[in-house]
Amino acid sequence: MSLPPDLSGRLRGILGTRLSETAADRGHHAQSESFHRSPAPDAVAWPESAEEVAVILRACNEARVPVIAWGTGTSLEGHALPVQGGLSLDLSRMDKVLEVRPEDMQASVQPGVTREALNTELRATGLFFPVDPGANASLGGMAATRASGTTAVRYGTMRDNVLALQVVLADGRIIRTGTRAAKSSAGYDLTGLFVGSEGTLGVITELTLRLHGQPEEVAAAVCAFDSLDHAVECVSATIQSGIPMARIEFVDAASARAFNLHSGSSLPEQPHLMIEFHGSPNAVREDAARFGDIAAEFGARGFDWATTAEDRARLWRMRHGAYHACLALRPGASGLITDVCVPMSHLPAAVHAAAEDIAAEGLIGPILGHVGDGNFHSLLLVDPASPDEIAAAKRIATRMAERALAVGGTISGEHGIGIGKRGLMAAQHGEGWQLMGQIKAALDPRGILNPGKLVPDRN
Ligand SMILES: Cc1cc2nc3c(=O)[nH]c(=O)nc-3n(C[C@H](O)[C@H](O)[C@H](O)COP(=O)(O)OP(=O)(O)OC[C@H]3O[C@@H](n4cnc5c(N)ncnc54)[C@H](O)[C@@H]3O)c2cc1C
Repeated sequence: MSLPPDLSGRLRGILGTRLSETAADRGHHAQSESFHRSPAPDAVAWPESAEEVAVILRACNEARVPVIAWGTGTSLEGHALPVQGGLSLDLSRMDKVLEVRPEDMQASVQPGVTREALNTELRATGLFFPVDPGANASLGGMAATRASGTTAVRYGTMRDNVLALQVVLADGRIIRTGTRAAKSSAGYDLTGLFVGSEGTLGVITELTLRLHGQPEEVAAAVCAFDSLDHAVECVSATIQSGIPMARIEFVDAASARAFNLHSGSSLPEQPHLMIEFHGSPNAVREDAARFGDIAAEFGARGFDWATTAEDRARLWRMRHGAYHACLALRPGASGLITDVCVPMSHLPAAVHAAAEDIAAEGLIGPILGHVGDGNFHSLLLVDPASPDEIAAAKRIATRMAERALAVGGTISGEHGIGIGKRGLMAAQHGEGWQLMGQIKAALDPRGILNPGKLVPDRN
């Protein structure tokens, strides 16, 4: 497919070579980390300002041509795939850190800035941006998916760290949501509406983010447990004790083996917790000691402290690389990743049931996650050519979601819905899902923004 000629001409008039209809550029924007497949977009555009985004959206809205925002394409449920063709709107050239306000602990950035690029820019300020999904994703994409990461247990998710947005609507209007104040109760929370909307309600062209002070002292370690249950029960007990963990990550025996093969570590092939403490030297020492006492009750051993900044960076690089390390356990396989999040008291049972289910279906499915929030993933490794394996993986994923919903949890803790989890939305939201469709229809009456995702199909 190609863009209607008049639209293509109009966009080329604005963007010049920043509009591409080459097979290579279109092909790249039909790729995804997930096992979902999609046709290529009709064209790709690289805007450099909110005004350009507004002109593009207005023109595509008039021509009823779909527009799919693209950050860095790392989302895991086919979110950025142009399933109905149209224009892929790549925000990577809007990559400026516009302003850092250390006295307010805030930064304003364009959506194409990646999380690592922002922290590099902040290095000398004594501040940092904490939200750290495993991939070096764009801040626009992270806001659109309401992403989180290993530090969410202490610093929150994108929902908690986005104060304000500039958004372009389907008809080209440019709006601002939120304020630079630390809180506001002035009307509907439009920032909260766009954070997590996956490019279906508007295109984010600027973000105001909350920054945090770099901790005075940091201590990180990894420790092993003789069973998955003991490791996860230790997490519940730790969180319920009120120790302000900066990070507490769970990895099962299969993940530990994947790390050893992929990152050259020498972890015993057992369940592990990866932990980190932030604070003053006294507070860190005290928190670590309290954690040690709790962990000992659950049989933790082999504490391996990462004493230098390099050791800590290596430890968390290994964790951030878990997805690809686990995929390498079965070369040629695709990964169907689950992402449930449950109330803390239900976490041990949820992880246990998932492990049993994966074993019963005979699939390889490492389990790991941000368990300090009750959020965990299983990466179900399937032969992409085997309908039986894909069906088995989908059965496991559905049962995990149903069990999570039965205890008041959610089908997605951080990855979002995209294509892959749309089938579970009615079960979680009931009539609320229809309401999401009505909100979508009000803001995007022609349905050009990322069609086929998140909300119900229109009648
Ligand atoms: C190895 C690996 C590890 C990961 N670990 C985590 C993790 O720990 N936690 C986590 O939450 N996620 C994780 N993810 C998933 C992914 O990184 C996040 O979903 C991330 O937020 C996606 O950002 P992106 O820039 O790549 O967005 P894309 O994939 O490009 O887009 C994601 C969605 O956002 C929309 N979008 C993008 N930019 C904009 C914009 N400016 N305005 C409006 N809509 C926009 C797109 O249309 C799409 O619907 C991981 C992914 C990988 C590959």
